[in-house]
Amino acid sequence: MNLEQQLITRRLEPTEQTTLSREVQEIALRQSRYLDGANFRSIHPEDLRRLFELYDDRYFDGACRQAVGKAPLSFRLSPRMTSAGGKTVREETTRPGRPSIVKYEIVISTTLLFQTFHDVDRPVSVTGLMCQNRFEALQRIFEHELVHLMEMVVWVHSSCAQSRFQSIARRFFGHREHTHQLITPKERAVAKFNIRPGDAVEFTFEGRRLKGFVNRITKRATVLVESPTGRPYTDGKSYEKYYVPVASLRRRPK
Ligand SMILES: [Zn+2]
Repeated sequence: MNLEQQLITRRLEPTEQTTLSREVQEIALRQSRYLDGANFRSIHPEDLRRLFELYDDRYFDGACRQAVGKAPLSFRLSPRMTSAGGKTVREETTRPGRPSIVKYEIVISTTLLFQTFHDVDRPVSVTGLMCQNRFEALQRIFEHELVHLMEMVVWVHSSCAQSRFQSIARRFFGHREHTHQLITPKERAVAKFNIRPGDAVEFTFEGRRLKGFVNRITKRATVLVESPTGRPYTDGKSYEKYYVPVASLRRRPK
C-alpha cells in the first residue's frame, strides 16, 4: 500500500500502538550516540533522523521515504522555539519552465523538552497522552510532526486543526489532542521564581543594580529599564531593553 492509501484506510489497535512505540523508544535509545537515557540530557539531529526511519519502518513499511522520494528532508533542533513543541516546513521553489523543487524540514524545540521533566514537577501530557519521561514527550511531538510531514507529502496542505489530520494521528498513534502541555519558560518562571510579565524587578548588569519591569519571557526575560537614552515606548517613557536569565531577577514591590 502506498502512503496515501495507508493514511486513508489503516488503523492500528491500541495494543499495537503501545508495542510499536516502546520498540521505537528502545531501539532509538540503544542506537544513539547522544541520548543518555529516557530523560536524556543531550540529543542530536541524527536522533531525529533515526526516529523518522524507525517510525517509517515500523508503522508505514517504508512508505514515507518512498513518498518523500528525492525531495530533501532535514531535521533540526531549535532552542529558540519556546511555545510550540515542533514544526514542519514545506518549502517549494518554483523555476520557470521547469518542475519546482520541494524541501521538507522537521524542527523540534529543545528548550521545551529540556525544561520538561526537569525542575517543575507536574504531570505532562502531549497530544492528550500522559508522558512518563522526556523521550515519550519527544515521541508524541515527533509523531505529530510526522503526520504534518506525511500530509504535506501526499496532499501538500496540512492542518492539525482539521479532521483528516486528527483522524490519522488517532488511528496510528492514539493521539487525542493536537496540543501539548510541555513546560514553557513562562510557566517555569512563575513556578520556580514567581516572576511574571509585568512584574517590577531588579538585577545586576555589569556591576550596576538596575530596576525595571518584565516585558516578556521567552528563553530569557526581556526587562525594560527606564532610561533617557532608551527607545520611546507606548506609555510615553523611554526604555532600554535587557535580556536577563529569569534566575537572576529579584522581584521588587511596584
Ligand atoms: Zn500541528
